[in-house]
Amino acid sequence: MSLLLLHDSVRVVKRENGELMQDADRYSRQVRFEPLGERGQKRLLESRVAVVGVGALGGASAIALLRAGVRRLRLIDRDLAEVSNLPRQLLLTEADVDAGLPKAVAAAEHLALIDRQAELDPRVQDLTADSCDELLRDVDLVIDGSDNFEARFLINEWCCRQQVPWIYGGAIGAEGRVLTILPGTTACLRCVVPEPPTPGELPTCQTAGIMGPVAMVVGAVQAAEAIKLLAADPAERAARCDGRMLVFELWEGRWRRVDLSPLAAEGCPTCRDGETPWLSRHSGGATTVLCGRDAVQIGASGNGRIDLDQVARTLEGCEHLTTTPWMVRAEVEPGVSLTLFRDGRTIVFGTNEPARARSVVAKYLGH
Ligand SMILES: [Zn+2]
Repeated sequence: MSLLLLHDSVRVVKRENGELMQDADRYSRQVRFEPLGERGQKRLLESRVAVVGVGALGGASAIALLRAGVRRLRLIDRDLAEVSNLPRQLLLTEADVDAGLPKAVAAAEHLALIDRQAELDPRVQDLTADSCDELLRDVDLVIDGSDNFEARFLINEWCCRQQVPWIYGGAIGAEGRVLTILPGTTACLRCVVPEPPTPGELPTCQTAGIMGPVAMVVGAVQAAEAIKLLAADPAERAARCDGRMLVFELWEGRWRRVDLSPLAAEGCPTCRDGETPWLSRHSGGATTVLCGRDAVQIGASGNGRIDLDQVARTLEGCEHLTTTPWMVRAEVEPGVSLTLFRDGRTIVFGTNEPARARSVVAKYLGH
């Protein structure tokens, strides 16, 4: 055997041992925490989680999960980084805002610096009835970091159907809520909220404001709930869910748990009978007014994908034309700009009226 081969094999052993030793040291404090232990840690390292909405809640959850050893994260967010996100969103910097990065891409870049072995899968996409299967498949758990009930009802129906646990989170003003939903054991979202609120019925972060740390606490509690379930043997999971919703208010310092187990006993058409009305609706071309942002999103139609180079050529000559691998943006009229994403969505900034947004898109893009 040549010295070179011997040297190489020693180096390989050293590297493997080094990685093993690094992991053992890295997670030593968690492993010492008896309810987790080595078995729990191993399960965390083998888990895959989808985070829907990588903003204030999802960003905080993703950081806590990755640091805990959940290295396989699918990061789903349709939006671009905006300056008004900075007070709350732990995975965004001013440079990300300046570069107009999608939140999912910015989050993946920052998370990659925390753990070199992380397997991050950023998706600049909208969670819709049509995209649920693609975006949520092969995950062990879903974190809700979304900002709207349509996404939550889709997550709820998909997770009930696939028997995948998910963690609801909400934050507004100084109040936060977290509910762990384990299909077949706890109440589901529809058990608690039979119909989603109509637009304008509930206060939003735009109308009521939000204190940044509230969102971070919600995200951290969601991650803790996820860790409890992911680290458990599937047969032990039910024992780790007590079916109560955490509701807290950080300004006055109030914390309470609301027992939802009576609702779980009764069930609802989704978790009891398998009804999935939201998943059955096709979302092609749907318009969504983006609350408080003076913008309207027009969903993808057809197969969804668009040729961004072609779009950039079409919009040549418009003010502030910007092209990135994820989107094309241009100011088509004074105060009105279009942003087109690779997945086929268009956001029209400068109006709150779906009809006006559609006419702008028709005028400049012909669809
Ligand atoms: Zn239910």
